[in-house]
Amino acid sequence: MADPAECTIKVMCRFRPLNSSEVVRGDKYIPKFQGEDTVVIAGKPYMFDRVFQSSTTQEQVYNACAQKIVKDVLEGYNGTIFAYGQTSSGKTHTMEGNLHDTDSMGIIPRIVQDIFNYIYSMDENLEFHIKVSRGDTLYSVSKTNLSVHEDKNRVPYVKGCTERFVCSPDEVMDTIDEGKANRHVAVTNMNEHSSRSHSIFLINVKQENTQTEQKLSGKLYLVDLAGSEKVSKTGAEGAVLDEAKNINKSLSSLGNVISALAEGSAYIPYRDSKMTRILQDSLGGNCRTTIVICCSPSSFNEAETKSTLMFGQRAK
Ligand code: ADP
Ligand code: MG
Repeated sequence: MADPAECTIKVMCRFRPLNSSEVVRGDKYIPKFQGEDTVVIAGKPYMFDRVFQSSTTQEQVYNACAQKIVKDVLEGYNGTIFAYGQTSSGKTHTMEGNLHDTDSMGIIPRIVQDIFNYIYSMDENLEFHIKVSRGDTLYSVSKTNLSVHEDKNRVPYVKGCTERFVCSPDEVMDTIDEGKANRHVAVTNMNEHSSRSHSIFLINVKQENTQTEQKLSGKLYLVDLAGSEKVSKTGAEGAVLDEAKNINKSLSSLGNVISALAEGSAYIPYRDSKMTRILQDSLGGNCRTTIVICCSPSSFNEAETKSTLMFGQRAK
């Protein structure tokens, strides 16, 4: 069993490498690393549970950030893994990476693989139902009846028909690809397509022992947060600006919830944002929470990187 006394919020920090346009521009590589848990920016040290240097592999990140949570979810705990950081800092690379490549795949495909491997290794008396949902799509997977259901209005539901089967990690990846195609993206002049919304992926694992009728249920939210950059830097206007303000507000609400949890406060302001309301039963208590703070190593982004690191420190 997982140790209930164990600290349930972990804050990890990952720096991506300099990209080619940063190199061409002559940006400096600013982080200095000390040991496995400290990064120094402009002489100031920031400490986390782990700090990953730019050369850290996807597998190393998975092992340190997610492996234990997956084990706990299979034992009936709830959990959440967040990626936080400015646009282009490596959040999606960390959470998804290349979904179809063994080396460069990120946390989500590795989790899906681990869960399937676990299911296939378990004894026949255990029945699994895995619901995977992202945005407004819902998929249902179980060992005995591996199926996805949608009604005639394409609203997904779980029982009854067998229109489509999802029975391997690859097929779950396909559902993620479809979800990505629907994702709302607005362009800002941040010279990248900035994802102006949070992407929440939920894996709900229900197990039932068909002999003893013993049941276990664990829920894992995997959240690729919207870019945390300050509105002014993006040059956004109008509707995009309003949306950016909402995003900044929901990120600060999340910061408030996590720091209240980390401080052990009696009052946790879950109700201050839609996202924290959704995540309420998977944050705090004996839930497992990991935040991966994603940073650019470039001197050009120093101010944003410091503010990202400060967000992570508040959760400690
Ligand atoms: P975000 O989701 O935070 O906006 P991305 O994950 O899309 O950022 O990363 C921006 C770019 O940098 C992508 O092309 C991605 O492949 C690359 N990248 C991010 N992190 C790494 C890393 N650790 N190693 C190599 N490339 C990375
Ligand atoms: Mg992204």
